[in-house]
Amino acid sequence: MDNIVAEPLVVMPVERKNDTYALRIALNQGEFTPGMMKTVMEVMSKFNLTSLRVTSGQRLNLEGIAKDKLDEVVAAIGTSVKKAPPTVNVCTGVGLCKYGVQDSRGMGKKLLEIVLQNGPYPFKIKSGVSGCKISCGFSNVRDIGLVGTPKGWDVLFGGGAARNVRSGVKIGTKLSEDEALSLIVKALDFYKENGRKRERISGMIDRLGEEALLEALK
Ligand code: SF4
Repeated sequence: MDNIVAEPLVVMPVERKNDTYALRIALNQGEFTPGMMKTVMEVMSKFNLTSLRVTSGQRLNLEGIAKDKLDEVVAAIGTSVKKAPPTVNVCTGVGLCKYGVQDSRGMGKKLLEIVLQNGPYPFKIKSGVSGCKISCGFSNVRDIGLVGTPKGWDVLFGGGAARNVRSGVKIGTKLSEDEALSLIVKALDFYKENGRKRERISGMIDRLGEEALLEALK
């Protein structure tokens, strides 16, 4: 560990029970580098913190920080933000996984770019990209889901795994990367025009019907 340079981290404080906070560590596609690890280990050791928890969004939560220590811990770990930057759940993909048929990590990066460029939206957007139909990137239950097939990308829209559980509507199949991304921009435009404030895409589709979405995307 001596030759590893500690990297500062971007964190979002999250209020917990009993006057404690968690710090949500912003990661890109779940990558936790040795430099980040060193910073976290040093902070955990210095402040006697014992819980580092992986989130479903491929981030990390450093738990159990007393309210009166929060500023000190934040200063030691890096920079604090009010809202963690959005991420895309991505699976390991073709680069590492023997089942992968499409580049989920590369596609995840491009998808995140278009999601960021085309906002704001009525409510949050969670996305998932999987390199094959096994769908480890939670593509079926994300607002935007991409599933790699040997012939291109399947695109799902409006999935959800929270209060309104549903599988996304399949809006495209066997598409090239560019075709899939263009279709997603069109679907996001539909959401911007028709979604109500704080209504997830799944709720909008339940209210308007799948046909209205599919008709608009023809
Ligand atoms: S979705 Fe497919 S390619 Fe991605 S990690 Fe799972 S099995 Fe591998």
